[in-house]
Amino acid sequence: MTNRAHNFSAGPAVLPLSVLKTAQQEMLSLHGSGMSIVEISHRSLYFSQIIEQAETRLRALLQIPADYHVLFLQGGASLQFSMIPMNFLASDQSMAFVDSGSWAKKAFLEAQKVGSTTQIWSDKAQNYQRMPSTSELSTSSDYIHLTSNETIQGIALQSDYKLDKPVICDMSSDILSRPVDVNQYDLIYAGAQKNMGPSGVTLVILKDQFLKKHQQTSASQLGSMLNYTTHIENKSMYNTPPVFSIYLLNLVMGWLEEQGGLSGIHQRNQNQAQQVYAVVDQSQGFYQGHAQIESRSLMNITFTIPGADQALFLKQAEAKGLHNLKGHRSVGGIRASLYNACPQESVDALCAFMQDFKRNQS
Ligand SMILES: *Cc1c(COP(=O)(O)O)cnc(C)c1O
Repeated sequence: MTNRAHNFSAGPAVLPLSVLKTAQQEMLSLHGSGMSIVEISHRSLYFSQIIEQAETRLRALLQIPADYHVLFLQGGASLQFSMIPMNFLASDQSMAFVDSGSWAKKAFLEAQKVGSTTQIWSDKAQNYQRMPSTSELSTSSDYIHLTSNETIQGIALQSDYKLDKPVICDMSSDILSRPVDVNQYDLIYAGAQKNMGPSGVTLVILKDQFLKKHQQTSASQLGSMLNYTTHIENKSMYNTPPVFSIYLLNLVMGWLEEQGGLSGIHQRNQNQAQQVYAVVDQSQGFYQGHAQIESRSLMNITFTIPGADQALFLKQAEAKGLHNLKGHRSVGGIRASLYNACPQESVDALCAFMQDFKRNQS
């Protein structure tokens, strides 16, 4: 076995080793077929069993109610930024955006090209250090858009908000990291490459009554690929789906079941994130967390090192096999992404390195 890096990449991100090994074993001959997953028809029994199992597993893990559609689409979460307003935002309606950080902003800017939008809350002045509480969110708009985890700033919603308008939520970077109440959302979307698998597939969980009530009749004029109804009617196989991405996603879902499902993985995520935040908090200001404590993300841990050379931190980290710790330029500093598949050894190695680095600097 070649040495695996301690990989703290924000996405594409670390995947479970057992999943990669299975994919490696099955690469030349999938389930005795003599062909790989990327060489067979998406209409074959081999693939239809995989996509069905992926959906079944997702429904069980997230306890998705029967009246929600589960779709495997392409174009990333970024295409959802456009597809959502194209399908749902009528000319006399508006969509309210919670300006929680960089991804919320992108979603807002794309929707603005399609129809009327408002921002109902913003922490921009503080460079996005926290999420709002439910009581801070009220709007006369027709829809509310949330971003449950701001991957760049490292802040996250800590629970599901009960809001009185249809809620659309970008869960790209924390989906399946904790149990959620799907009933509180009308449309959930997430690119796969943070917590579910490789890039190339985007999960959409869409409430049927919401679609029936709110999809604009003009949606039938959209290109077929842009219309949710196309993908529902064709069970996510209107065109060739990203077969390899869905195959790996399915293996990751199997791995998640083995971790005790979402409550099991949530416990582990909390312990791991707490371990790193504790090093930050007990460093007497050597490390400074970006997020306010109540909004801290379990997935992306952001901090700065005000009194030390950050480039040196990154260089020494690399030398110890700790990779992809550089923060996004809009926040600066360090970002350690501890997605579901992050092994405990990587968290231990990071914490030990942070303590050593501090000791050597003081
Ligand atoms: C990564 C990310 C996106 C963009 O996803 P793509 O699949 O690359 O389009 C959108 N929202 C959030 C919260 C993300 O973390």
